[in-house]
Amino acid sequence: MSTDATETAQQAETHAFQADVQQVLQLVIHSLYSNKDIFLRELVSNASDACEKLRFEAIAEPALLEGGGDLAIDLAVDADTRTLTIRDNGIGMSRDELMQNLGTVAHSGTRRFLDSIAAGQKVDAQLIGQFGVGFYSAFIVADSIAVTSRRAGHDDAWTWRSTGDGQFSIESASADTPRGTSLQLHLREDAGDYLQAWKLKSLVRTYSDHVGFPIRMAKPAANADDDDTETKAPEAEEFETVNQASALWTRPKTELSDDDYKAFYKHVSHDFSDPLAWTHNRVEGNQNFTSLLFLPERAPFNFQYSRDERKGLKLYIKRIFIMDAAEQMLPAYLRFASGVVDSDDLPLNVSRELLQESRQVERIKGALTKRVLDMIEKIARDEPEKYTTFWDAFGATMKEGVAEDTANRERVLKLLRFPTTRSASADERVSLDDYIARMAGLQEEIYYITADGWNTARNHPKLEALKARGIEVLLMHERIDDWMSGYMHEYAGKTLRNVAKGEIDLDKLGDAQDKEKLEEAAKAAAPLVDTLKTALGDRVKDVRVSNRLVDSAACLVLDEYDMSLQMQQLMKSIGQEAPASKPILEINPEHALLKRLQAADTDPARVEDYAALLFEQAMLAEGGSLDDPTAFIARMNRLLVG
Ligand code: ADP
Ligand code: MG
Repeated sequence: MSTDATETAQQAETHAFQADVQQVLQLVIHSLYSNKDIFLRELVSNASDACEKLRFEAIAEPALLEGGGDLAIDLAVDADTRTLTIRDNGIGMSRDELMQNLGTVAHSGTRRFLDSIAAGQKVDAQLIGQFGVGFYSAFIVADSIAVTSRRAGHDDAWTWRSTGDGQFSIESASADTPRGTSLQLHLREDAGDYLQAWKLKSLVRTYSDHVGFPIRMAKPAANADDDDTETKAPEAEEFETVNQASALWTRPKTELSDDDYKAFYKHVSHDFSDPLAWTHNRVEGNQNFTSLLFLPERAPFNFQYSRDERKGLKLYIKRIFIMDAAEQMLPAYLRFASGVVDSDDLPLNVSRELLQESRQVERIKGALTKRVLDMIEKIARDEPEKYTTFWDAFGATMKEGVAEDTANRERVLKLLRFPTTRSASADERVSLDDYIARMAGLQEEIYYITADGWNTARNHPKLEALKARGIEVLLMHERIDDWMSGYMHEYAGKTLRNVAKGEIDLDKLGDAQDKEKLEEAAKAAAPLVDTLKTALGDRVKDVRVSNRLVDSAACLVLDEYDMSLQMQQLMKSIGQEAPASKPILEINPEHALLKRLQAADTDPARVEDYAALLFEQAMLAEGGSLDDPTAFIARMNRLLVG
């Protein structure tokens, strides 16, 4: 390092870290001390990002290369001073950028991570790895860090220093600082390993082999007594490239091992775990592009929020990194997929707006969607256990695809899994194809019920008649299911029918007398139905005798196209006006409670209590909530003690 730094040291300004940085630092240092190695991957990945940014900006402004277009990342160690230096000749950082990037928590993902953990909570290293610990991971191994940087095209250079104890200083650096960034880490007592060249080399090979720029290391110091080398200037170190330095996706599949793909996945995704699957393809013809897509094993901690700021699919054009383009190139319901797409045909100066309008991009998106679906289908077909892992992590996300991706709806439906009335637990799931294969003799439609919660679904009164006839029903018990079911009309030529809505025609299921029986029962119960209609007034649309109940006294039914009660309540809860569709009360005249009601006919107050109670019970069985729970309890108690 130049001695100018000491001359200007008196101009150093000290700044406090943003409060959250300190928190991130503590978390990183304490959660990752047994995963120290990852710091190198993070810093090399930053150096590689910096080279990619420069290459990208130089498309519009070649002068930024300052005549030096060979981009590289150099590692050097000095055992005497216990320093490890990581240097790149990429884009560099201005003074403001040093302050902003290395002094605050700039990333919204990190923000949310902080918000999501309680103060003092012990954090899982896997979890923290998933949000990309980034630059601050250097403090796992270093007790002091100096970052000297000159932004491409700028004359001024700056040095940022910190010991990670709440503040950092910034001072100007020598004007002959080369373009790019150099990090000097003073290694902690327990991090001496990283002074050993073999250790660094092996880490680079493991984690950063396929970084697209050469990662170079100073060759072992030449023997000082050697006459040939003595004449060389001490500055002119010799470097050897220790990584492959070629973009992995450009290499033929046959040359790549599973380990290569796994390491590359970790490099692009910052995930600690291996990917669940990947697919690597080259398309030639009208459009030429290469894609390498991965499925992660589990959802990152902030996954449920990330619908609107998707990341993970990197767009390259002719090997040059252009931007994160997940939003333009993958549908939202596949946002768990990550990787790289490299196009030969898109213009290098493409903008986000242009991407949005481009027919070419639309076609690439279509192709990538198919690739991801292929990959998921293959797991579903060949590796059921893996598919369970996948479904646990991303099943709810896939369901969005039923609504979102009309072109691939049938394929998405094929991938769905649901428990049924025959499942012992919510985890015992079947596909629609399995369900169809088990359909009883005369059954022509696929029956399902949506409810908020597993128990509500499983014990739903409306399933009683179907259960009694041995008819299997899919139990859609997750929040999203009710919304999704609005887009689910048909699969493999079979109608999907919500048994909670409309009337079910049990005749179709082989019970030829069912209609007659129902008509007779309705005739017999006509006075009872009238009594209830009068008592319930405008709380219900209608009252009728049910053919779906066996054990329960009553249930609430909606007309086929009415919005479900769950959805109505959900909309109310977020302050939206919901079209209030009134339910129909269906009763089981054989039930003891209805017999009691009939018997109480002469006492209007009691009739009112019974009627209201029936209605409220049915509402509760739906998983719904009551308008006036206290009145409900009072009513119930009157009937219990009376
Ligand atoms: P991330 O890489 O996820 O953005 P980091 O904590 O690793 O987060 O880095 C923070 C920011 O610091 C980067 O976004 C980048 O702007 C800047 N930075 C870090 N290292 C370098 C480097 N070697 N060259 C240029 N900028 C860098
Ligand atoms: Mg980073």
